[in-house]
Amino acid sequence: MELLILGAGYAGVRTAIELDRLLEHHPSGSSVTLVDRNLYHQHLSMLHLAATGNAPEQTVAISLDWILRRRNVRFQQGEVQKIEALHRHVVLGDGLILPYDRLVLALGAETNYANVPGAREYTYTLHSYHEAMRLYHQIKNSFALAASTADPVAKQALLTFIIVGGGFTGVQLAGELAHWAEQLCTHYQLNRFEVQIVLIERSGVLLKQFGKWASEPALETLSRRRIEVLLQTHVTEIEAIDSIEGVAARQLRAVRTYNRQAQNLTFNAATIVWAGGIRAPHVIAAAGLPVDRNGRVYVDRYLRVHDQAAIFAIGDCAIVPNPQGQPVLATASYAMRQGEHLARTLLDEIEGRAPHPYIPLDLGQLVSLGPGAGVGNPLGVPLEGLPIALLKQGIEAWYLTTLEKIF
Ligand SMILES: Cc1cc2nc3c(=O)[nH]c(=O)nc-3n(C[C@H](O)[C@H](O)[C@H](O)COP(=O)(O)OP(=O)(O)OC[C@H]3O[C@@H](n4cnc5c(N)ncnc54)[C@H](O)[C@@H]3O)c2cc1C
Repeated sequence: MELLILGAGYAGVRTAIELDRLLEHHPSGSSVTLVDRNLYHQHLSMLHLAATGNAPEQTVAISLDWILRRRNVRFQQGEVQKIEALHRHVVLGDGLILPYDRLVLALGAETNYANVPGAREYTYTLHSYHEAMRLYHQIKNSFALAASTADPVAKQALLTFIIVGGGFTGVQLAGELAHWAEQLCTHYQLNRFEVQIVLIERSGVLLKQFGKWASEPALETLSRRRIEVLLQTHVTEIEAIDSIEGVAARQLRAVRTYNRQAQNLTFNAATIVWAGGIRAPHVIAAAGLPVDRNGRVYVDRYLRVHDQAAIFAIGDCAIVPNPQGQPVLATASYAMRQGEHLARTLLDEIEGRAPHPYIPLDLGQLVSLGPGAGVGNPLGVPLEGLPIALLKQGIEAWYLTTLEKIF
């Protein structure tokens, strides 16, 4: 059987690794192919660290050659351009056609700009290693330019950092940035009070996807780190500014917002990060598969795409129901466990057995809020501060060891 996995993120890599392990003990003549546009696997839950100079490249962008070197999994680099379910094949950007007997969609998510004018053109994003590096250089250059700019208006805009979206990405980035800003101020002899970091969230709470428990402690910690958090605030438009004189004028932007209490706030900033939501890659909807308004594909309890015998989907690109029918969260930990489960389901298919339904396990969430700070509910126990930060660091490091195959 030809097993084709699209996407070498948490879900796809875990499916491939687990299939390799299972097929070693159950030889079947099946072949496993993993496809990704990059030659590396991205440890996305560390991107906010990479964007603030706190994670070495080899811990965030991990060579797929290295991960697969002792595994019986073929890697094919390429951009997935078309999924043709009727023909049971996938077409890559260079025209290569990959046939399959069973297909796994593990294509993750991309930034959702929610049609806000100027968001796509003028913001930085944090959904790939490449984007993290681009943001890293932007932040660093902004401090360097601010230190050498005489124009106070340009200087203020260079030292204004707007993060749109108070979910996992925005909150974790804000916490790290606050810490890095202090170091950069010392380095460039700037005053931390000149730096403005603003986190803008449309709803009334931070980390809304986790329920209310996380919001209060996150707000408190971020405020202590001199981050302005604006809740119930919509970004309505982002546009280029050409009226400020000085060295940085070309890269300055105005962010316009709307808030019922303080209407029409406008910020001039050189760095705006859009962390305002995600959607699944368009290629899935284009294949005619059943998707929601964010392009995520509906699967059943076996992780099989509705009305498709040979296509499965896991991770951020899928709407995976829990036993109550509610979608599980889009997190790395769910994506990995879905990958492990799906590998066993695929083995069942190969060996002609009925598969078991996927039963999601809620192990809790961990959110970092900068060095030594965090909020979480591991195994349902609400915790804050250093224990969460240490636990999260430990899990990130442990994750890397799970990619290794010693023999
Ligand atoms: C900054 C940040 C911090 C986060 N922190 C946490 C955290 O602390 N804990 C947690 O549990 N979750 C966290 N998350 C969420 C977590 O990263 C995602 O839920 C997880 O990555 C989903 O895994 P996935 O395998 O579905 O997708 P991904 O890991 O995104 O993998 C998708 C893969 O598909 C590839 N791909 C996509 N489209 C194509 C195409 N057309 N052709 C070829 N290849 C393609 C991509 O290159 C990528 O390798 C964080 C996310 C971000 C951005």
